[in-house]
Amino acid sequence: MAKTDERICIIGGGPAGLSAAMYLEKKGYTNYVIYEKLNKVGGKCWSPKIKVKHNGKEEERSFETGAIMGAITYHAVSEMEEFGGYYHKGPDFKEGEPNMRREFRKTTGEVDHPFEPKVNFSFKKLSGLLKLKKQMKKLNKLMQTKYVGYDCYGHLGVAKGEYYGISKGVDGYCGATKENSFPNYIKGTNPNLKDLALPFAEFCRINGVEEVQRIWIAPFTSFGYGFFDEIPAALVMKYLDVTTALEFVNMKLWTWQDGTQQIYVHVNEKLQHPAVLETEVVKVERPEGKVLVTIKGKDGKEKVEQFDKLIVTTPLDYFAKYADASEEEKELFSKIIHERYCDYIATFEEGKSPNISGYLVENMVPERLGHAMVYYNRWQCLDRDCPATVYALANHTGTPDVDFDVVMKTMDEDMQKVGFPIKEKMYAQEVYYCPHVSAKDYADGWYDKLEALQGKNNTYFAGEIISFGDMEDTCAASKDIIGRFF
Ligand SMILES: Cc1cc2nc3c(=O)[nH]c(=O)nc-3n(C[C@H](O)[C@H](O)[C@H](O)COP(=O)(O)OP(=O)(O)OC[C@H]3O[C@@H](n4cnc5c(N)ncnc54)[C@H](O)[C@@H]3O)c2cc1C
Repeated sequence: MAKTDERICIIGGGPAGLSAAMYLEKKGYTNYVIYEKLNKVGGKCWSPKIKVKHNGKEEERSFETGAIMGAITYHAVSEMEEFGGYYHKGPDFKEGEPNMRREFRKTTGEVDHPFEPKVNFSFKKLSGLLKLKKQMKKLNKLMQTKYVGYDCYGHLGVAKGEYYGISKGVDGYCGATKENSFPNYIKGTNPNLKDLALPFAEFCRINGVEEVQRIWIAPFTSFGYGFFDEIPAALVMKYLDVTTALEFVNMKLWTWQDGTQQIYVHVNEKLQHPAVLETEVVKVERPEGKVLVTIKGKDGKEKVEQFDKLIVTTPLDYFAKYADASEEEKELFSKIIHERYCDYIATFEEGKSPNISGYLVENMVPERLGHAMVYYNRWQCLDRDCPATVYALANHTGTPDVDFDVVMKTMDEDMQKVGFPIKEKMYAQEVYYCPHVSAKDYADGWYDKLEALQGKNNTYFAGEIISFGDMEDTCAASKDIIGRFF
């Protein structure tokens, strides 16, 4: 029998923490507290307002330093939208809305058309595109047959050739209704799923679909999720399942007029207990049957609060340092790797900003670490005087990391070469991004070991690590944890 009056602590007021609270409420739990160390909710969904000139007038528009886009497959995010009453724009955009159009450019600035056979026609290009189309079809079929079960959230059982989780492959909110948010668990055995532990490049090779990496690389690597020679295929295919990948290709994406952060601001306002801001969890002790959480408020004073249960939505490798972590927790969490993703919003010299977003595919290889891979212009209607966000990765397994300052300078130089000289840089940041484990640790059953820890010491682990580092997978991970354990 669920004890809905249990006192529950949620660490983190990002998408994972706020969705955990929303799903707790849907299950009748109302005695929870969310602690957020910053003075805002939304975590890596951060959408500052910037003054821009439009039709001769000054006005404020939202820009993105973090999450930008969603797709039709964003079921859990849809539930958050419904709860908060704040909805996306797209996939068809009206004049004046932020849009998701994009181009491809060479690092010299020349506009490239890698997927349009008629532009710069050659037989080589045509045959390359035909090969790509054939392999896309093949991969789509393989995922529905050989890899059946790949498309549920999370990684439970995959290393053992099993699957268990909420199916992504249904319409609406993963089959959720107003009465029941948690109906759509699927379970099965499929030994082929073990292949998903391989690095994505290897997975494509053994399946004879190497060419498809040309499609997957832009929405994956440029958005900071790492390189295909290192990232387990499960992360690539669970995030960019074939439907979502095709939505990227066809530019059928979602975005939010006032920024993704507003999804979470609206949810937070509707929660019975909005997040307690500027309050960092600095220590966790879990003596027999209790959870003691030490919090530090903005006055710098520390206070201990007692709870029945704890939901951690923040990086687990950090948690192991401030909590009374068990040996098992320490060992497991020490295997977590994260990407170092850097970006800044910049203004450009007069009349010289990109007026559409763009991918620099040549820079999406480990040899070009620290170089700009993508730029995002949210407001095409502002033409060529609009700030844009520029992004780069700073790490790759087996290669020395690139310092933040070097990344910043390199991105400036890249943008100059492409023809978009930067005037002023704002909101520069490096983020802890896309936590995951190596292909070897994945194959060794890391996720099943994490599952075995769920509920031990009254502690539950949610957040990006559970499934993938995007809004949908983190919110769905909360749904899964609350659905199964509360
Ligand atoms: C540049 C960029 C682009 C992205 N693009 C997309 C995109 O287009 N689409 C998409 O779906 N996703 C995108 N993402 C990813 C998405 O933003 C994240 O996956 C999502 O925000 C993860 O949510 P979370 O709650 O797990 O973690 P976070 O968003 O990191 O939130 C964690 C929160 O916990 C707080 N916290 C940490 N430690 C403590 C502590 N000890 N005590 C109290 N509070 C603490 C943090 O301050 C933070 O607010 C992007 C991210 C970035 C950075």
